[in-house]
Amino acid sequence: MSVFRNLSRISQYSYSSKPHTLNTTVTNRFHAPLSTFLSHFATATATNTDTNYLAPHVGLGPTKAHEKARVVVLGTGWAGSRLMKGLDPNIYDIVCVSPRNHMVFTPLLASTCVGTLEFRSVAEPIARIQPAISSEPGSYFFLANCTSIDTDHHVVHCETVTEGEETLDPWKFTISYDKLVIALGAQPTTFGIHGVYEHAIFLREVYHAQEIRRKLLLNLMLSDVPGIGKEEKQRLLHCVVVGGGPTGVEFSGELSDFIMRDVRQRYTHVKDYIHVTLIEANEILSSFDDRLRRYATKQLTKSGVRLVRGIVKDVQEKKIILNDGTEVPYGLLVWSTGVGPSPIVRSLHLPKSPGGRIGIDEWLRVPSVQDVFAIGDCSGFVESTGRPVLPALAQVAERQGKYLAALLNKIGRANGSRANSIKDMDFGDPFVYKHLGSMATIGSYKALVDLRQSKEAKGLSLAGFLSWFVWRSAYLTRVVSWRNRFYVAINWATTFVFGRDISRI
Ligand SMILES: Cc1cc2nc3c(=O)[nH]c(=O)nc-3n(C[C@H](O)[C@H](O)[C@H](O)COP(=O)(O)OP(=O)(O)OC[C@H]3O[C@@H](n4cnc5c(N)ncnc54)[C@H](O)[C@@H]3O)c2cc1C
Repeated sequence: MSVFRNLSRISQYSYSSKPHTLNTTVTNRFHAPLSTFLSHFATATATNTDTNYLAPHVGLGPTKAHEKARVVVLGTGWAGSRLMKGLDPNIYDIVCVSPRNHMVFTPLLASTCVGTLEFRSVAEPIARIQPAISSEPGSYFFLANCTSIDTDHHVVHCETVTEGEETLDPWKFTISYDKLVIALGAQPTTFGIHGVYEHAIFLREVYHAQEIRRKLLLNLMLSDVPGIGKEEKQRLLHCVVVGGGPTGVEFSGELSDFIMRDVRQRYTHVKDYIHVTLIEANEILSSFDDRLRRYATKQLTKSGVRLVRGIVKDVQEKKIILNDGTEVPYGLLVWSTGVGPSPIVRSLHLPKSPGGRIGIDEWLRVPSVQDVFAIGDCSGFVESTGRPVLPALAQVAERQGKYLAALLNKIGRANGSRANSIKDMDFGDPFVYKHLGSMATIGSYKALVDLRQSKEAKGLSLAGFLSWFVWRSAYLTRVVSWRNRFYVAINWATTFVFGRDISRI
């Protein structure tokens, strides 16, 4: 029933074909019963291209006086999810737009690639994080991409996600907002190196981890087939990781654990052919303390990970070429060289911070536009604030989400929740980020914990088994819900007792 209730509510709003203009007369003419709305939905492609048709897009129109004000949140990452968790559904209707309906607990994502954890253990549905999304009449989650934002008219343009399904046509719609929070994250950087998108796998989403696991298991099985030569066997089982930051190092550590325990036991025919190479242009883990870096280098080497200092020049189907001409054949290539602004962030006509992220002030507002805020990896302080752009970290995104939820609730309680209604309001204390330190596992029950606030500062840093215990305990307590905490604990125990699951599902 709630689906029909939601659909009929959406159908109350229609737009004229003139872009960004909300047309109330048209709304009345198209204030159709549910059956009519559903037929609009079914004929979306035909109408989308017909410029004479008066309602090419349906959507959510501006909120009315008797309705709650609407916060539109773009993205279900660390920043957007934490924000939605903290928003007061008694003050706002919350509408979330994202191509995925869950938040990913990224610090544990590398563990899912080799089966230490299962994929579901690191994904938390957004409707569990903020139940109002699925229960309040004016709150929704839309599985869609935001394609543009019209800040003059307080409207977001969206297109549904079809994921290559040929039977589905992308459906365009618009949403009016009272407050807009942009939490679109970032995308992997490739430095324009040819072939990365075609041949490498990134590690940012659950489907990336699934792809890595399937490829790894496929290569293990193919290499055991009769007639496969030694050289091809070595290529198939050569796992290359490009990028020696925490993600690249953690993934390499997980791979080496998988090889040392599970491959040796269950793929004995090919166990001597499988290798991991980690390629980094500079030092690995450059943000960590020198002593921890040296420890990680020694430990990874001891676990069989080959560390190569080099710059990738070209990526081909079966090999990569380094700057010095070295050819590195691979069977699995994982690319993890940091992140930069995504195409949607670059395309938005909003102030930008150094580095091209969406510019924000100390209160996380986008300057010079009304009612727009940006948080997480997609945002950075504008130069005029005199503050540095913060690192692309979950701890930054999460704390910005928490801060902004409290700020928006405060604004709502002070009668500023409606569009263009914030006038000379005291926003209180600005957002201040205090770095709590960094952690990374390196495999073999070892991890690094660096509690210094910055690279130059003094502070506690630990490496070894105790750090690994701290790492696991910290993340177990940080996992979003009790359900997932339970999943993670059970997965760790199962892996410890029975080994990793090697079924290629
Ligand atoms: C493997 C891995 C391990 C990590 N480990 C750590 C760690 O240990 N500690 C740490 O502090 N940080 C870690 N990070 C970094 C951390 O995950 C990011 O900094 C954090 O996810 C940023 O949060 P965000 O909400 O800004 O972006 P994201 O979490 O990337 O979320 C962006 C959201 O926007 C959505 N989106 C994208 N395009 C659109 C669109 N057009 N319309 C609507 N929605 C859109 C995405 O689907 C997603 O839901 C790790 C990252 C990775 C990938």
